[in-house]
Amino acid sequence: MKIKRIVITSAICAGIAAIAYFAFVFPFYEPETSNFEVSIDRLMSFDYLTALIPLLIIIGMTTAGIVLVVLLRRILAKTDKKDSRFAHVRTGRQKGAAPKQKPVWFMIMRWIIMIAFTFIAIWGGLIFGMGISSLSVPVLSCPWNTEEMTSSSCYYLSHLNELFELPWHSIVIFFASTIGFILLLGRAICGFLCPVGLMQDIMDKIRRKTKTEGIKMNDKMYKAVTPIKWCLVLILIGLCFAGGNFCNFCPAVAVSPVLAGISTSLYVSGFLMVLVLMAGFFKRRSFCMVCPIGAILGFFHKISLFRIKKDTQSCTECGACYEACPMGIKMIYTEREKVDVTSANCIMCGECIRCCPEDKALSMTCAGIKLYSSSRKKIMSGYEPDKNGGLPNDNDK
Ligand code: SF4
Ligand code: SF4
Ligand code: SF4
Repeated sequence: MKIKRIVITSAICAGIAAIAYFAFVFPFYEPETSNFEVSIDRLMSFDYLTALIPLLIIIGMTTAGIVLVVLLRRILAKTDKKDSRFAHVRTGRQKGAAPKQKPVWFMIMRWIIMIAFTFIAIWGGLIFGMGISSLSVPVLSCPWNTEEMTSSSCYYLSHLNELFELPWHSIVIFFASTIGFILLLGRAICGFLCPVGLMQDIMDKIRRKTKTEGIKMNDKMYKAVTPIKWCLVLILIGLCFAGGNFCNFCPAVAVSPVLAGISTSLYVSGFLMVLVLMAGFFKRRSFCMVCPIGAILGFFHKISLFRIKKDTQSCTECGACYEACPMGIKMIYTEREKVDVTSANCIMCGECIRCCPEDKALSMTCAGIKLYSSSRKKIMSGYEPDKNGGLPNDNDK
């Protein structure tokens, strides 16, 4: 019943958003109006601000969509008590709930790296030269950000029919950068480098700050979205052979080139980006569950240098890791024999390790070197008494 209501609510919201988008936004951003002349001077000019208008529209529509969903939830809760938990239960720190942990260096580093790579992905080609674009990894650098398309792995993964028409050195760069990055980093690209991943993490942070309840998925729901992922992989690879262009549907193309200052078309991508941001708000990394690039990266998870390791002797099967995992990977909690618990869906976000209350029960390694391990001390850090030993300080009086 609950799932049915969520589906109906989502369908109504998507319908209203689609009508609003295609009626009022799409006609003003036809593909013919595209302008790919970009330079650093343009980034400093008034033109750059006008190029950002589509992005403001996307942000506005996302905000309106989120408010609409929250209001619909409240209306549903009033008409049916079964839904009341969607409207009134709030996330975030509650009275009597476990206190927040102190900041974890791994998470701080992960955010710094994600922001730095997003910066490079969007402005890197312009500021540091086209070489940066040539060494692109999937979704790291959208070729539409610059006039330079050569060797962009993201573009050619979805346009394989054009790849072998390139000069040989471009083909070599494509394979070296794409296969090399995929083999070495695997889905650590998702956890550390992908700008779309960063956008979803930001939406999740906003949800937590605004204390809005998210959508909690169960095993059945995780399994139900898997076929969508494989359909999107087929579309990504096969659309070019059917005469289509995947870039017209890629959500990233509605944000990344716009930020780079290109007056480009929102096309269908803009609408999909609104859905990606909305979904990312209510369920962390929801697009990552169906992302075709993520699925391709997952193929190589067995040979990637990044691993999640488990000490089954230390694990008390509390399930905190499963609760924390944005990708719903149950094996991380249920595995009782294997040490290596790296899954094809694991985006190397480290959330399971951060929430695991047992010393060294979970760890992330790179080429066998331990990067980050679970720590009871860290979990307990939120319970440490204040400097006055629990007595009220002067400001409390
Ligand atoms: S799954 Fe896709 S969108 Fe998500 S972080 Fe990986 S590449 Fe980016
Ligand atoms: S959070 Fe740690 S202790 Fe709990 S089930 Fe997961 S690995 Fe085991
Ligand atoms: S298993 Fe751990 S590192 Fe992998 S996606 Fe889940 S929470 Fe993140």
